Amino acid sequence: MSAQLAIQGATKHFGGITANEDISLEVPEGRVIGLIGPNGSGKSTLFNSIVGYHPVDGGSIRFEGREITRLRTAEIARLGLIRTFQQTHVFVRMTGLQNMAISDAEAGHGLFRLMRPVSAETRERAEALLAFCGLYGKRHLMAGELSFGQRKLLELAMALMVRPRMLLLDEPTAGINPTLINGVIERLQRANREFGVTLFVIEHNMRVIMSLAEHIHCLAHGRLLASGPPEALRNDQRVIDAYLGAR
Ligand code: ADP
Ligand code: MG
Repeated sequence: MSAQLAIQGATKHFGGITANEDISLEVPEGRVIGLIGPNGSGKSTLFNSIVGYHPVDGGSIRFEGREITRLRTAEIARLGLIRTFQQTHVFVRMTGLQNMAISDAEAGHGLFRLMRPVSAETRERAEALLAFCGLYGKRHLMAGELSFGQRKLLELAMALMVRPRMLLLDEPTAGINPTLINGVIERLQRANREFGVTLFVIEHNMRVIMSLAEHIHCLAHGRLLASGPPEALRNDQRVIDAYLGAR
């Protein structure tokens, strides 16, 4: 079977900057795949192109056999391909439960649905996913009262609310209190195993990506530098040089 996500020759320029150059890689269904590389190597740009935030200048992107290169973000999200951000994107003046309801409404029936009360089924699923992310006890708190790490967990719960087939996670542990990092890793692994969500993860923390991903791609200067299992990449001189060179 072909890969769930297949990127072929993705190229993206910003003015004179080549952020992505001829990147080809695949993400097989049901797996946890990592994307690493020094700061500015083009990781977030690639994610932005995949989810339709900005189109590539060249190359193609296919998701579940379907060309998505020119689709808009909302259309791509409806196919089950969802991205979370380096910074959190929750509504700070709404409770955890309200944030979950909005996430459901955005994916499903449009914002007008917010005018109506949340169905028992939606509420039940929202509560189950908040519990999954360790936030059930805080479901009535304003999201603004949560710690940064808890907001990221809320964002994960919101992403799961739309029943994604694949999640693109841009530095899921960045800025999180070290004591919460293992909790995030564990939730991601469980989301992968229990809900069958494919994970494609950008991560700066080497310990995190080495323990999470089965296979890792490394970018440098906008190009795909190396790919392989964590052990091989950790010992790859090109990868080591790219990180040392970027310091
Ligand atoms: P990474 O996520 O690996 O740190 P990025 O993809 O954010 O790297 O950035 C890659 C390069 O593209 C950088 O030189 C960055 O400054 C540039 N870049 C990214 N997004 C934009 C943008 N919207 N406009 C202009 N330049 C951008
Ligand atoms: Mg980035």
